[in-house]
Amino acid sequence: MTSGTPQISLYNTLTRSKEPFTPLDANNVRMYVCGPTVYDFAHIGNARPVIVFDVLFRLLRHVYGAEHVTYVRNITDVDDKINARALRDYPDLPLNEAIRKVTEKTEAQFLADAERLGNLPPTYQPRATDFVLPRPDGKPDMVSLIKTLIERGHAYEANGEVLFSVQSMPDYGQLSGRNLEDNLAGARIAVDAHKRNPADFVLWKQSSAEEPGWDSPWGRGRPGWHIECSAMSAAYLGDVFDIHGGGLDLIFPHHENEIAQSRCAHGTHAMANVWMHNGFLQVEGQKMSKSLGNFYTISQLLDSEDFGGRKWPGEVLRFAMLMTHYREPIDFSVRRLEEAQNILHKWRAPLRHGSVSRSHVQATEVPPEFLKLLSEDLNTPAALRYLTEVASRSFGVSVGTESPSNLFHPSFNQLWSALQLVGVDLLGYEVMRDSRVEMAVAERLAALNAKDFAKADAIRNELAEQGIALMDYKDEAGQRQTKWEVKR
Ligand code: AMP
Ligand code: ZN
Repeated sequence: MTSGTPQISLYNTLTRSKEPFTPLDANNVRMYVCGPTVYDFAHIGNARPVIVFDVLFRLLRHVYGAEHVTYVRNITDVDDKINARALRDYPDLPLNEAIRKVTEKTEAQFLADAERLGNLPPTYQPRATDFVLPRPDGKPDMVSLIKTLIERGHAYEANGEVLFSVQSMPDYGQLSGRNLEDNLAGARIAVDAHKRNPADFVLWKQSSAEEPGWDSPWGRGRPGWHIECSAMSAAYLGDVFDIHGGGLDLIFPHHENEIAQSRCAHGTHAMANVWMHNGFLQVEGQKMSKSLGNFYTISQLLDSEDFGGRKWPGEVLRFAMLMTHYREPIDFSVRRLEEAQNILHKWRAPLRHGSVSRSHVQATEVPPEFLKLLSEDLNTPAALRYLTEVASRSFGVSVGTESPSNLFHPSFNQLWSALQLVGVDLLGYEVMRDSRVEMAVAERLAALNAKDFAKADAIRNELAEQGIALMDYKDEAGQRQTKWEVKR
């Protein structure tokens, strides 16, 4: 850690408290985040963990050095939902081929969406299907992990399945705070008759001839969901690593069971030291989810006009997400996106007015206060509010006013650098959109000055349809000027 960088503190779900973060090895800070199951487009709720942990990745790189951070986010490409989708979409293809089509297409879409939202690619993005069987490179794999669990008395075969025995682990349930009695109460005894304990969960299950399967010591079958992440995290990060993340819904059963598998297989006191969980993105108080049908896909927001009647640039979606602390729920609304759009629009004013030229924008020291707020359990809303102060103080951009006369480079570079640190590019492609609006506004002013009111009104109406509101005013020299902002 370089001097002058603040201490990072993170809220740890495992201890239910905010703790100073100390990596196991400052030369290799290691983080694992559960990635998507690739059977369908990702919705904007799925984008939340991607963005939140990208911000943490960037902060860790800033503090420890880019080459000293390893971030793994897996791709789950074996799942019964994938099989169902393959059968539905490619009924005439052999299942394996159909599955490959579904997963390759969905994975490519996910990576493209993630990039357009300003996320760096993780260091490694392993696919689950590459870690089912023992590997030529000797990296940990699912079958070997399950064998070890059986040998150590933590798993058993029953009814064609291999199950993890929760009673074999005295402190099972620490992460979610559930004890075994809680789990018993909710269990369906009839369905689970072959289990020693109703909370026992599947490590391996048999596949029928039509289902995807791998030959294993327990017959042809496929892995349970949780074991994937135990194998892939161990493969790239070792038996114990620093940070494990995902959405709140993953605490139980997924993360609880990952911990059980990894700790029991490796005989360790921990799988990861810090467990972090983002809150839900909600629509009218309900979690956005496929099953509720209340979702907007990322590409729908970027490329169609389905949400609020217009397209939303990636920077705006990302900024809107960061206006809320990652552990709080977000209520996703057009209003929130407009607010984000307007703040970015104001911060770009020096570029529009030409007092800062793109070619002079360069990386500079991130304001220490910004870094400090970000380091306090990723307090992005406070950090962005601080930038609002910086912007209004140093280059006179605040709500309702733009005074292009006193803009200067150093503070714009500070603002730009701070935003880069959280992955928002102030020079992003949205500036293009701005310049198109600028041109239309200038054309309308010319029409007004030429008393061509019909043309001026037509341009105003056209912009209004795109959600752009115009406000005319006179400048100090008494010249007619126009300000614009995004509104509905
Ligand atoms: P899934 O594809 O459902 O396994 O979700 C992938 C990731 O997105 C997981 O980390 C989930 O916790 C997260 N996630 C799913 N829905 C939401 C939501 N509405 N808000 C925030 N995170 C979500
Ligand atoms: Zn996982």
